[in-house]
Amino acid sequence: MTKYVFVVGGVMSSVGKGIAAASCAKILESRGYNLTCVKIDPYINVDAGTMNPTEHGEVFVTDDGDETDQDIGNYERFLNKNILSSNYMTTGRVYSTVINNERNLKYKGKCVEVVPHIPVEVIRRIKEAGNKADADIVIIEIGGTIGEYQNLLFLEAARMLKLENPKDVAFIMVSYLPIPKMVGEMKTKPTQSAVRTLNTSGIQPDILLCRAETSIDEKRKEKLSTFCNVPKDRIIAAPDVASIYDVALNFEKEGLDERIIEILQLEKREGNDQLKVWKKLSDKTKKLKEEVKIGIVGKYFKTGDYVLADSYISVIEAIKHASWFYNKKPVISWLSSDEYEKNPEKIEELSLYDGIIVPGGFGNRGIEGKIKAINYIRENNIPFLGICYGMQLATIEYARNVAGIKDATSEEIDKKGDNLIIHTMADQIEKINKYNYGGTMRLGAYACVLSNKSKVQKIYKDGEISERHRHRYEFNNKYRKVLEDSGLIISGTSPDNKLVEIIEIPNHPHFIGCQFHPEFKSRPVKPHPLFKSFIKASIDTKR
Ligand code: GLN
Repeated sequence: MTKYVFVVGGVMSSVGKGIAAASCAKILESRGYNLTCVKIDPYINVDAGTMNPTEHGEVFVTDDGDETDQDIGNYERFLNKNILSSNYMTTGRVYSTVINNERNLKYKGKCVEVVPHIPVEVIRRIKEAGNKADADIVIIEIGGTIGEYQNLLFLEAARMLKLENPKDVAFIMVSYLPIPKMVGEMKTKPTQSAVRTLNTSGIQPDILLCRAETSIDEKRKEKLSTFCNVPKDRIIAAPDVASIYDVALNFEKEGLDERIIEILQLEKREGNDQLKVWKKLSDKTKKLKEEVKIGIVGKYFKTGDYVLADSYISVIEAIKHASWFYNKKPVISWLSSDEYEKNPEKIEELSLYDGIIVPGGFGNRGIEGKIKAINYIRENNIPFLGICYGMQLATIEYARNVAGIKDATSEEIDKKGDNLIIHTMADQIEKINKYNYGGTMRLGAYACVLSNKSKVQKIYKDGEISERHRHRYEFNNKYRKVLEDSGLIISGTSPDNKLVEIIEIPNHPHFIGCQFHPEFKSRPVKPHPLFKSFIKASIDTKR
């Protein structure tokens, strides 16, 4: 019998509901249950792929090619397992299934209504995710905040699922308790209101997770218990912590796993050492003193550093994992590629870093700045990892400055360019001509064969790998020979040798570009080989 735990947010957004959901999963997993997590995003977009990163943050790509919310990335990192497309849904996705069903006469002539048909489809999707993962417990995070119009139908689905299986469904509300400066005291009223609002959807929370700057005291627990109708031992403190990885450890200390087991009447299982491993890592990271300084050359920081960090969250986490592996404390700096176009002399700041990453991106703003940065990195022996667009731009830089193709460019930058080193493949042209942009890039896991004696073959200790992609443009095979003749090594290709997946250059401490996104597969307990080699080179290279 599968059990379901819904996680909803009260009072305001950005209180770490995703991390809370992933941490609940983590502590239950360490008690011996098989877990999976589902993310519900209430927006109409069918997936996160068509949104600007400043709008949405990172688009996380699953092995089976879905463009999802960054929370799916947290679930993968916390649970150390792949999460499938079926674990992600949006309003757009649910509605299109229901409308398609109706067009295909699946409702047998009935009037198709928002309720119950939309919630029924939501429930079907939740159950499907649980079945595919063979999960004992499914944690479902409902996006948005209680009281919003957007997530009402998902709450309705949760209520209906509970009605069907009263003993198998639990509700957790992650709420925010402000401590206003002038008052100096933690206030519970906003949470009381949020619980009442949730009650109007026919849902009573079983557990309150109290997000606040500090731990919640006994007095406030009593108050919340009385006014929110939640037993005191199910009101759990969730104070701010230094690292997201500490949240699970705190929850365990507070007995959250016990409470969930008791509410869902789960049979006791033998636990495992998952949390011990987690704690060891968390303790170790706190003691690290020696730094490794990494620069990320990007452009998505219109509204401050926060957005940039959100746009590249998996890259940041992958840097952390690899740095911790080598017992170093990562210090990450954001470097604006736009700046390098306006003030070329600023480029010299790159030499202050131990290593530089040029991550994925889209469009032509800031591109010349990135190419200039890559040129400086290559010529000054700064360890480099180019991801997706970063790899494409590295080949363009090489073509321009080593192979002498001065006007080398990408079709994405200049459609009419004479020397398109990066171009669109035929099937993509067809899609673009039909304005068919959503979900039509090369997406998800693809095999890649590594060439003999290449750096990457040594790094991966393997001849064939599988990595996740998200891009429309590809390396143009017409330029393969000229670039190889001028020293570029094509060290990874698709098994049929038609697609260039990895490039590297010799006589450089670390200059590797990959067409895929290695960051999506890095885990705290299993850093990614390419990030490991990049960080190692950043630590070892004396310049
Ligand atoms: N814009 C490039 C492409 O579509 C690279 C995409 C990316 O970096 N994810 O091919």
